Amino acid sequence: MKGYFLLICFSLASYLNGEIIETKNFKEITHHIHPETLVILDIDDTLLVPVQTLGTDAWFLSRLDHHFQLKKDHFLALDQALAEWEAIRHITNVKIVEEGTEEIINDMQKENIVIMGLTTQGLALATRTVVQLKSLSIDLSKTAPSDQDSYFINGQNGVLYRQGILFTSGTSKGEALIKLLDMINYHPKDVVFINDKKNNLQDVEKSVELRNMHFIGLRYSYSDQRVANFNQEIAEIQWTHSTFDHLLSDEEASVLLNRD
Ligand SMILES: [Mg+2]
Repeated sequence: MKGYFLLICFSLASYLNGEIIETKNFKEITHHIHPETLVILDIDDTLLVPVQTLGTDAWFLSRLDHHFQLKKDHFLALDQALAEWEAIRHITNVKIVEEGTEEIINDMQKENIVIMGLTTQGLALATRTVVQLKSLSIDLSKTAPSDQDSYFINGQNGVLYRQGILFTSGTSKGEALIKLLDMINYHPKDVVFINDKKNNLQDVEKSVELRNMHFIGLRYSYSDQRVANFNQEIAEIQWTHSTFDHLLSDEEASVLLNRD
């Protein structure tokens, strides 16, 4: 009886406090939703990734480090690395992170589950990212919590909600999400958020629990191996030898690398 009581207490505590679960497969999300759940999807390294190393999140971090070594100023380095990353993101093709993700999203949308995207991408990429997701048969406007575009200030930056995706421009995902939900007067009891970065999950967890919403975070590890295998030399060759109408593939860069 005592054990049963403790189990109930533990379950209740975990319900109130939410939890972050590690998962390698996107399908895990379907085990944590019900008709009233708000499902939130990260974009980069969760739904899509550039077809080559150039333009990936891992490449962005390497550019950030490169510029910091040169400038010794975090803000100048961040500005420069972001400008380069956005330039490549505008012209790159993308691929789905995990095969079948688009079908899982489409199936949830057919069940009228409320789904939205949440990314730290800046406003300049908003339209491009919507188009890139559509090239992968993902349309996050279908069952989004609002069909109206919204622009508002979060922290130091303007953020944009467009076509079912909230672009937070490097500001807190949790704070931007709560502002949006307040603006559209939508307050779900349960939130499920899938993201490859744990700090983003913790940020949103903190914000939604302050509003007494139950939170489940899925720390999505599918991209971990690819990120760990980031090849600086391949990225350098792609950065140096690509043109506006042809970004070198990893295979093409590898041929050049081995020739030099
Ligand atoms: Mg991500």
